[in-house]
This record gives sequence, structure tokens and C-alpha cells, in this order.
Amino acid sequence: MLNQGIGSWPARRARKTPGRTALVHGNTEITYRLLHERVLRLAHGLRALGVARGDRVAHLGPNHPAFLETLFAAGALGAVFVPLNTRLAARELTYNLGDSGSTVLVHGAEQAKTAAAATADGGVRHRVTLGTPDGGALGYEELLAGSDTGPLDEPVAPDDPCLIMYTSGTTGRPKGAVLSHANITWNSVNVLVDTDLTVDEVTLVVAPLFHTAGLNMTCLPTLLKGGRVVLLEAFDPGTVLDVVERRRVTYMFGVPTMYDAMAAHPRWETTDLSSLRSVNCGGAPVPARTIERYLARGLAFSQGYGMTEASPGVLFLDREQSAAKAGSAGVPHFFTDTRVVLADGSPAGPGQRGEVLVQGPNVMSGYWGRPEDTRGAFTDDGWLRTGDVARTDEEGYAYIVDRVKDMFVSGGENVYPAEVEDALLSHPAVRECAVVGVPDEVWGEVGHAVVVLEAGRRADGPEILAHLRDRLAKYKIPKTVAFAGDLPRTASGKIIKSAVRTAHPAPSPDP
Ligand code: AMP
Repeated sequence: MLNQGIGSWPARRARKTPGRTALVHGNTEITYRLLHERVLRLAHGLRALGVARGDRVAHLGPNHPAFLETLFAAGALGAVFVPLNTRLAARELTYNLGDSGSTVLVHGAEQAKTAAAATADGGVRHRVTLGTPDGGALGYEELLAGSDTGPLDEPVAPDDPCLIMYTSGTTGRPKGAVLSHANITWNSVNVLVDTDLTVDEVTLVVAPLFHTAGLNMTCLPTLLKGGRVVLLEAFDPGTVLDVVERRRVTYMFGVPTMYDAMAAHPRWETTDLSSLRSVNCGGAPVPARTIERYLARGLAFSQGYGMTEASPGVLFLDREQSAAKAGSAGVPHFFTDTRVVLADGSPAGPGQRGEVLVQGPNVMSGYWGRPEDTRGAFTDDGWLRTGDVARTDEEGYAYIVDRVKDMFVSGGENVYPAEVEDALLSHPAVRECAVVGVPDEVWGEVGHAVVVLEAGRRADGPEILAHLRDRLAKYKIPKTVAFAGDLPRTASGKIIKSAVRTAHPAPSPDP
């Protein structure tokens, strides 16, 4: 087999475990044999649409087999897969499609309207829909049915680009992290070594696949090993509890807000969770109360820390340590190394706070088409800067305690204040503004905007928020707005976010 990328995984699995179930979606079960056949058909279909080696194929849709089939089919052709966040506004999607130069967009039925709006500029040559085909979009199943299953023979090397995943990194401007087939494979190997996933695994994937953790911490390692992936399109705590019990789920990943909602559900006490071997949480700081609730039920609750640019696994607390080191994000994954450094770059000692730096075969080579941002993301000696602050204990276990980058996490989604501030500044009455994350019981954190109006201009909170609605995804829009005469700044003119927080606290949000 000439293809050494992840596009060859279905074929390799079909050779080893053809009859085992790879994917479960509702009542549909897809074996590895069938997955391989569907991926081949789709790859031929995409080739007929003009997709060739190096081209970008975007996807906008839910956790559905089509997401994975498109990923593998693009990989089988040596093309690059670009997963898009279904929560983004059409303008944000147009930006990501244009920046990546995607020529084909595969999308879900529910995303048809947004997909049409986002591709109106003509950069994307073909849309393929899971819904009803129309003048603007071909049908997904029709494309597969009309294609053959012959071998593709496309050589793909481990270092060829596999994915472009949009993230804002440490600076707040959306950019595509380019992850190679090797990056993704090594991350899966790290997960397999550190979690002991087996061929009998039943992995629940409910975090969105377009996020690095949903795709790379659970789904791909399970498929590499030959286990079974149960896909859920939307998070609902009662449904997750039912599916864990009914499907005897053994492994899952979620962000803290998901686990809190499950533990607060009326059926939490009565649901049989005994099949769960490992419950993995990450993507945002994990509150102690969340960990305690799961440990109290006898579940091994492990924490992971990572970022898109590292494919994403960096630190991992394995289940043997989950009680003894509760609250820690663990130690580096098997093939990955970290350093915690003080502001001058010297190593932080045990107990000292410093920025986490990462190196390893899972770390990206850079951002798509942005050499300057790429240079800024790494130290001179090649370590990826995370923008996160940790301290380690005497045994080397790391605790994520703060961030140096301007970002907060709302319900598992990263919000970059710089991006929200840009959108606010496009309102004619806004002269200056600052957006900060404030604590929230349900979402972990939510946005709060402090706005300085232009002299002589008037605008109220609702009007300002309405202005953001077609510009930004809903989760990025601040919940509250306060008005100020000016903003606290350093001598060099930089807004001091900590002082904004104390001087202009968020009023209670509307119920
Ligand atoms: P993303 O690139 O979307 O995966 O977001 C990565 C960022 O999420 C990290 O740089 C952290 O700021 C945050 N994050 C991820 N995992 C954790 C964790 N276990 N604890 C605290 N923050 C986390």
C-alpha cells in the first residue's frame, strides 16, 4: 500500500477486522469492510469533481459517518481535510473557506442554508449535501452510488498535510493549524499507549468531531485500534446517560460542562455506568467538584490537556492516578515532551508557575499560509508556546493554573476577545472596547463587554449585541455589556484586562 496516511486506515482495518463494527449512528452500523468500500466510492466521486493531491476539501456538519468518510476519502487522494465549526456565522465560514482555498464543501442537511450563504462568493466549486440535492448541491449518497470501488494508488507520505483545523492560537486571529498524517497518527499512538484502548472498546463520540478533542482524543485512536465508535450528533445529558447504559460504552471524552450536566440529570443516580472504563475530560479547566462527583461513583475520571496545534494531546492523567492526583492534567503523553518556563525562558522549579512549551511528533509544522504567525508560535529553539500557565509538583505532575493568552472557554468553545472586540469596533458608535471572560455556573465562563462610545453617539446594550449576531457565532457573543468613559491602560497604551474586570464588573445577565 503506497498510502501511509490516515486515508489508508479503513483499507488496512478492512484487511484485519473486516466484520467488526466501526461506526454506530442511530440505528445504522457500519463495519470496517463497508467503511472501506464507502471511502473508496467517495474518493472516486471527489476525484471526478476535480479533487487532486494537495487540494482542500471542507466539511460542515454534525457527528455523522459522512464526516469520517470525507476525512478518509480526502486522505486517500492526498487531499487536505478542513473541518468547519457548525456554530460559526456564514461570514466566519466564508473566511475559513477562502483562507484554506477549499474547492469542495461537504455539508449536513441542516447546514444547507448556511453553506449556500458561505459559498456565495464562488471560491468553492462544488457543494455536496447530506440533505436533498438541489441546483446548488449534489447529493452525498448519489455521489457514492455513481462511483466505483477500484484502488486509488495515490502515494501519501507521513509528512504530507492531512488536516487544516481552524483555531485562534495565542493571538486571537483565526488561522489554520496544518497537521500532517504523522502528527495525527502519533497523537493516536500517544492515546493508545496512555489509555490502553483495545479492539473491544466502545467509544462514545459526543463532543463535536470538528473540534480536535472530539476527533483526535477518542474517535481516531479507536478506529486505528479497530474498536467501535458510537456517534451522537448533539449533546443532551439524558440521551448520553441512556446511550452509555444501552450501548455499554467503555470510553468517552467530554468538556467539563457536559459532565456537570450529566451529573445534575435526574437519571444520574439510577443509570448503570458500570461499563465505563475511562471517562476523559479536558478542553477547559476542570472544576474540583466535577472530578469529585465522578470519583464518588467509582469512575476513573482522567483529565487531558492539549491544543489544536498539538493534534491535540499534550498532558494526560491516566486512570491509575485519577484519584491520587485529582485536578492535575498529568504528565506529558508518551512521545511528547513539555517544559514549564519562567518569563525569561529559564525552567520553572516545582511549585513555580510558568508557560507550558511543547515538542513532539504530534506538534504541527505551522499555520496555513502564515509564516509570521508560525514563527511567533514557536520559541527560537523550536518549542510550541501554548499560552497556558502551569505549575508542577515534586513528581512532575502538572496543574494548569492560568493563561498568558487572552482567551476564555465557554461551554467547551474557545472565545478570543480580540476577535469579538474587532466585531464590536465595526459598530459606528463604538470607539473602544474590551471583552473579558467572567465566571458562569453553567458555561464555565461567558463574555462581558465594556464599551466606550464615540462622543455624541448613543447605543444601548441590546443594539450592540444585535450588531454582533450576524458577524459571530452565538457562543462568542457577550452576555452582558457595560459602558465606561475610558478603559484602564498601561503606559504603552495596552488595555489592562484585569483592571477592566474589577472596574467594570458584569451586571447579572438577563434570565
Ligand atoms: P483548542 O485548541 O480548542 O483545543 O484549545 C486549547 C486550549 O484549551 C488550551 O490552550 C487551554 O487554554 C485550554 N485547555 C485545554 N485543556 C485544558 C485543561 N485540561 N485545563 C485547562 N485548560 C485547558
